[in-house]
Amino acid sequence: MSFEPSYSSGSARFIDRCRRALAEALKPPPKLTLSQWANRYAHLSAETSADAGKFRAFGYQNGIMDAITDPAVRRVTVMKSARVGYTKILDHVVGYFIHQDPSPMLLVQPRVEDAEDYSRTEIAPMLRDTPVLAEIVGDLKAKDSNQRILKRSFRNGASVAFIGANSPGGFRRITARVAAFDEVDGYPVGGAGEEGDQISLGIKRTESFWNRKIILGSTPTLKGISRIERSFAESDQRRYHVPCPKCGAMQVLRWSSLTWNKDLDDAGKTLAHHPETAHFICEAKGCVIEEHHKPAMIDAGRWVAERPFEGHAGFHIWAGYSLFENASWRNLVEEFLRVRHNPSELKTFVNTVLGETWEEQGETVEAHGLAKRVEVYGADQLPENVVALTAGVDTQDDRLEVHVVAFGPKEEAWPCQYEVLYGDPAQSKVWHELDELLKRDFFTESGRRLRIKAACVDSGGHHAERVYAFCRDRRTRRVFATKGASGPRPIWPKHASRGGAGGAQQVFIVGVDTAKDAIYGRLRIQKPGPGYIHFPQDDGFDDAYFAQLTSESVVTRFREGRPYRVWVLPKGRRNEVLDTFVLALAALKSLPFVWTGWIGWLLSRLPLRSRP
Ligand SMILES: [Zn+2]
Repeated sequence: MSFEPSYSSGSARFIDRCRRALAEALKPPPKLTLSQWANRYAHLSAETSADAGKFRAFGYQNGIMDAITDPAVRRVTVMKSARVGYTKILDHVVGYFIHQDPSPMLLVQPRVEDAEDYSRTEIAPMLRDTPVLAEIVGDLKAKDSNQRILKRSFRNGASVAFIGANSPGGFRRITARVAAFDEVDGYPVGGAGEEGDQISLGIKRTESFWNRKIILGSTPTLKGISRIERSFAESDQRRYHVPCPKCGAMQVLRWSSLTWNKDLDDAGKTLAHHPETAHFICEAKGCVIEEHHKPAMIDAGRWVAERPFEGHAGFHIWAGYSLFENASWRNLVEEFLRVRHNPSELKTFVNTVLGETWEEQGETVEAHGLAKRVEVYGADQLPENVVALTAGVDTQDDRLEVHVVAFGPKEEAWPCQYEVLYGDPAQSKVWHELDELLKRDFFTESGRRLRIKAACVDSGGHHAERVYAFCRDRRTRRVFATKGASGPRPIWPKHASRGGAGGAQQVFIVGVDTAKDAIYGRLRIQKPGPGYIHFPQDDGFDDAYFAQLTSESVVTRFREGRPYRVWVLPKGRRNEVLDTFVLALAALKSLPFVWTGWIGWLLSRLPLRSRP
């Protein structure tokens, strides 16, 4: 309201002002990016922030926020430590899609209690204290059925559903354009019960929107098991580069470049640490970068992707970049010095301060690297030095999965067919199809005909009796019923064991851990030759194949204080490809040596076995 006198043309001005106000009201709100919106409108509430008042983003937060509203980005992954201000980013997402681009939203927290807590302690104060949101929301205290803790609806069509990943039915009857998954590494295993993986369930709920947004954020946990790490690996992997204050070289801040002064004795042994001297060493020129340089560096930084962008923006950020007082470099060093001798505390430090996964001693193989090395060959075009083909068969409740592998001298391997035969193993149809597959002809490039020399069929599942019956009739073709056993034991046993009702059946115990050790060791071989595993450019050898083949990892566990190794399959991942490879390798080991050695190679070359 203006109190300036306006005697002469007051009514004209009044009309003009009304007209302008009306035009303003009819205009759609300006399309801002999320960072523009947050820096203009967002307000920090006293109960959620040490510095209540207007929000001002740290440099790295802007890039993350703008990816979320970038029309080219369908999915955003943020792998992060604590204390980088991620929760505020998530708050702003909610605010933005209420005010700027009213949309139905879905916000998933690890547990229902977390979801309630987030709605009550983060979102409610934001709706109350952010003026542009308060206008839309109206009175939060009024007994308004649109403002329930787990479902908030707004008069402009926006809504937010808050869901706990531990609630099996939580995703039913919800559709959302924006789905944000917070702390995904904290989602309980087994999660949504019978219905499967919580993230896929939530993503399904967005499928009717062409412009949907999927946002995953988390502090990572165990390497190879962490969901956020997996999602980050699929993204374009952006890291925040900042300029050295002395020489200007752009670089990533790494824990390994953070150092501090130490008092050493004559022998070089550390007598005392001085975390108050914590500083980074410039990776380009060795300049000393001190805490007081940090704000300007963070402001002048930029995100740099390490992989091509394909609609999925991934960000890694850790406490070393944070401008929060409790994340000073000195604090981080002090924390490290406190926990460094305790593996479990050190794990927490690595996860929550460095924002990185913790690697238990053990081995994993990267699926991505394997998928890149596919070659042109196939079941009808095998290399000439193949000496034996074997197959591994996994029995599931609704299908059989069959992996055919060709082996050359010194067990160089060419997987050449991966087949899923759908059907109920209690019925004979699917077994008939398996039989046909095991009898089929394979050919080398020159037309030499090869057949499967041995096959292992897993009898460990529900259909053991069917497996026994199938294998009993095909013993002359070296089709064996097998069962996996862990621990140190040979891949192929010296003798058959007895299985089935009354021990009437022959079953071979396969040393699966030994076989997996062998296969993972061979997957790391980079050059064709002994033990190397080739992959064909062929149907069945897609991303899912490589993901399953590399799905497991070895970890060290302790029982009564003694370490032991165990192969683990992360929850929600499948491993039939690896299991059937194990069985194909076991089948190879079942063959008498002469068949796989050079005599076998000569025998396999007899002219009567050519392509008809
Ligand atoms: Zn420098």
